[in-house]
Amino acid sequence: MKFSTKAIHVGQEADPATGATIVPVYQTSTYTQDAVGEHKGFDYSRTINPTRLALEKQLASLEGAEFGYAFASGMAATAAVLNLLSAGDHAVVTDDLYGGTYRLFSRVLERYGLSFTYVDMSDLAAVRAAVRPNTKLFWIETPTNPLLKLIDIAGVVGIRGELATKATVVVDNTFASPYFQQPLALGADVVVHSTTKYIGGHSDVVGGVAITNDRAIADVIKFHQNAVGGVPGPHDAWLTMRGAKTLALRMRQHAENAHVVAEFLERHDEVSRVYYPGLPSHPQHELAKRQMSGYGGMVSFVLKGAQSRALDFANRLSYFSLAESLGGVESLICHPARMTHGSIPKEDRERRGVTDGLLRLSVGIEDVEDLLDDLSRALASVVPA
Ligand SMILES: *Cc1c(COP(=O)(O)O)cnc(C)c1O
Repeated sequence: MKFSTKAIHVGQEADPATGATIVPVYQTSTYTQDAVGEHKGFDYSRTINPTRLALEKQLASLEGAEFGYAFASGMAATAAVLNLLSAGDHAVVTDDLYGGTYRLFSRVLERYGLSFTYVDMSDLAAVRAAVRPNTKLFWIETPTNPLLKLIDIAGVVGIRGELATKATVVVDNTFASPYFQQPLALGADVVVHSTTKYIGGHSDVVGGVAITNDRAIADVIKFHQNAVGGVPGPHDAWLTMRGAKTLALRMRQHAENAHVVAEFLERHDEVSRVYYPGLPSHPQHELAKRQMSGYGGMVSFVLKGAQSRALDFANRLSYFSLAESLGGVESLICHPARMTHGSIPKEDRERRGVTDGLLRLSVGIEDVEDLLDDLSRALASVVPA
């Protein structure tokens, strides 16, 4: 089965009880047993629910994997995967990291005795230098947010191979989606998604998933899914599953539109820099071609002039809503320095390239001519530099 066929068919068999073609929302917490211990495989909905199970099968198949576990959010999925570590263990983490992941690692998990080293993982020498005898996990996010830097997944897997003890390589694949990037095929052990973004795709549900082909890892994640209980309700699972059926169609359009928008911005006099892995000017364009089958829907750029100008520009757009999050069918704009990355001290932020003029677009699947008109008009009317 190829990608879209899996998205539409895996886990989506007609309902055994009624023949309903679409998996029903099994809005139940419990299941009537024929006798003690005699049931149809379902006993309690934190542990197992048919709607959630259908979603898990569908999403695992999209990453070419056997095991998938759905969670109430991307952060809950991340927290479950970090349960592979125990007090005293160390992880090497990309420094251009989703803010909520950084918060979980630094303010929750460090208190439990885990330690983290943040490095620019686009530099494999820096990754190697960060490894310690107790390193048990590598946490990769690629492309990164908001600068769309790439990390060489197979390269990190190679470094892991040099170590005496086996460490787990985890990829947060939220930005690329399984349609454009298949980390398990590149040697990673676990993939995590915030399904809130491209997989759900309609900005109407929060969720997460952790996916693997390794049975021992799967057992740990499944154990914690049940023991800790950060599971999605059946209706959220159902919405995510419905969204995922059109993932391929949407991703193709996101990427096509984003490419046109990136090229338009790169030509524009008011713009000093554009970040998009699909542009030949992207420093890791060659790696992008190798590692991804498309470049995704996220575009960042720097508007010339002061921060007030970037904020004024963002307010002048009609189709790009000023909002956090990404990956929905509608276009969004965000000012990372004041929004998603506002908690990072200014000096630190600027050193990482998150400057006051930086804007991040989640390019939607509207007609691209309308998006270009919107951007042109706002660029023409923005306050002078
Ligand atoms: C949004 C996001 C998360 C967190 O997911 P939630 O569903 O908001 O909990 C993690 N990683 C990345 C890259 C994200 O964009």
